[in-house]
Amino acid sequence: MHEMTRVEELVRVLKKKGVRGKVRITIGHLEATQIMLEEVKECFEIATKNTDLEGSEIVFVPQPIRMKCNDCEAVFDVSFDDLPLRCPICRKDDCQLLEDDELSIIAVDTP
Ligand SMILES: [Zn+2]
Repeated sequence: MHEMTRVEELVRVLKKKGVRGKVRITIGHLEATQIMLEEVKECFEIATKNTDLEGSEIVFVPQPIRMKCNDCEAVFDVSFDDLPLRCPICRKDDCQLLEDDELSIIAVDTP
């Protein structure tokens, strides 16, 4: 299960940061990601059950996809509507994904 692997990774990062108790975690997800956010929430509940983080809440914030042009090295944000992709500077289509983190922790708040 793809989502569970991602969630376990997130929980590991949170523990490493020393996050404890009921917190609100703001998570950025790529706009075009195939990841199921509802499933992420469910997996998070399962992964944190009987741990320090039990009862914590997840808030999702969509993040643009960042690309880099391999030709002129311009860095730019794209959304799903921009596909097929071209560099906004040189109009070439030789671009690569710069950040492919489907889920990333943006903030952790204690309510
Ligand atoms: Zn370019």
